[in-house]
Amino acid sequence: MRVELDAARGLVLAEDVFTVTDTPPFDNSAMDGYAVIRSDLLGASAQNPITLPVVADLAAGTAENPHLSPGHVARIMTGAPIPDGADAVVPIEDTDQGTELVTIVRAPNAAAHVRRAGEDAHAGDRVLRAGSVLWPTRVAAAASAGTSSVLVHPAPRVAVISTGSELVTPGSPTRRGQIPDSNSFLLSAAVAEAGGIPVRIGAVPDDEDVLRALLAELAGTIDVIVLSGGVSVGAYDVVKAVLKPLGTVNFGPVKMQPGKPQGFGRWPATAKAPGPLIFALPGNPVSAYVSFEVFVRPALRRLLGHGMAERVDPSNEAHNEPALTTDHPGLDHPALHRRTVTATVVDEWNSPPGRAQYMPVIVTHRTDGAGTHTEVRPASRGGSGSHLVAGLAQANGLAIVPEDTTHIRGGDPITVMLTS
Ligand code: AMP
Ligand code: MG
Repeated sequence: MRVELDAARGLVLAEDVFTVTDTPPFDNSAMDGYAVIRSDLLGASAQNPITLPVVADLAAGTAENPHLSPGHVARIMTGAPIPDGADAVVPIEDTDQGTELVTIVRAPNAAAHVRRAGEDAHAGDRVLRAGSVLWPTRVAAAASAGTSSVLVHPAPRVAVISTGSELVTPGSPTRRGQIPDSNSFLLSAAVAEAGGIPVRIGAVPDDEDVLRALLAELAGTIDVIVLSGGVSVGAYDVVKAVLKPLGTVNFGPVKMQPGKPQGFGRWPATAKAPGPLIFALPGNPVSAYVSFEVFVRPALRRLLGHGMAERVDPSNEAHNEPALTTDHPGLDHPALHRRTVTATVVDEWNSPPGRAQYMPVIVTHRTDGAGTHTEVRPASRGGSGSHLVAGLAQANGLAIVPEDTTHIRGGDPITVMLTS
């Protein structure tokens, strides 16, 4: 998809970008001052000031090119083209700022304060690589290369649906048995943060026909569908009931905690389009969040084109490529996955055997005489209880407990996925 630069921020380039012209396109002044012929000013100093006539006044943006002959100078502002004949710029600070005649008290060095055409990049140079994330400085690099639009990986449109007859819109009154739908807000915000375009549908009741009709309607316009709830073995587990018979969505159990019951697959393809990806996440908010982080976010990042940049060996910059850019070289697909760190456990907790545990934790840094230590403690007193949303809101990481570890003690090192 080709987008205007205004819409490019944060997206991933799907093409290399080359400069159209030299950057800068012409020799220009790096200072406000006077364009001079250096040989006119040999020996100039405070004791030996040299006064010369000013024959032109060159502002940034001017197309004027007054040819300087020996013994003459032109007043020049930063960014204005260096006139033919001139070979150095004397900054205003080394002059009396005269407009008819100017007195100069310091001899300039060769080519002083002259920015050379092509110094930044030559016409035809590659300034950005396919796979680069277009953060602001890279949008600027494309702009100064003379490009108004770039080919990018389009952001996926992601429908977010909560299921459950107990769910109501937050803020509306609840009777006994009802709770606010928080998952559709959680997951829409997480989709947006990952770079996707959330389409928050909200909550639908545990009614197979309603859900089936909704999914069929969305399938034509949406790239990914994220559902929550209704995936386990309860009597009204509507998501499983609708999706499992399709044969294109697989359901767990998954060897993780939380997140054991969930499904992944596609809505069936039509002649016109492949079916959207479907993530059927558990309903418990902590389970839904953990499953989003572990499965959905990396998939969205991949759809966005992250983690596919060529690796650049900095010792092998063969060509004149002044602005080689990759997706954080040196780190392992960090734009695809969350960053992980090793931290020290402060509290202790248990983890079920045979399942990898993702424990919402608070990550802090403590500095003492020996250095700075990264420490983690569970975000909820109740441990990993998958309904503990308030604790989840305090967590800034997920500690990853390997499936064969059942007890985590204070002082143990542990891998933590940083989520904010
Ligand atoms: P389920 O997976 O449908 O059995 O739901 C498991 C638990 O998560 C139940 O206590 C639900 O009420 C709760 N739950 C499901 N969906 C949501 C939601 N969108 N927001 C808040 N809680 C939910
Ligand atoms: Mg339910």
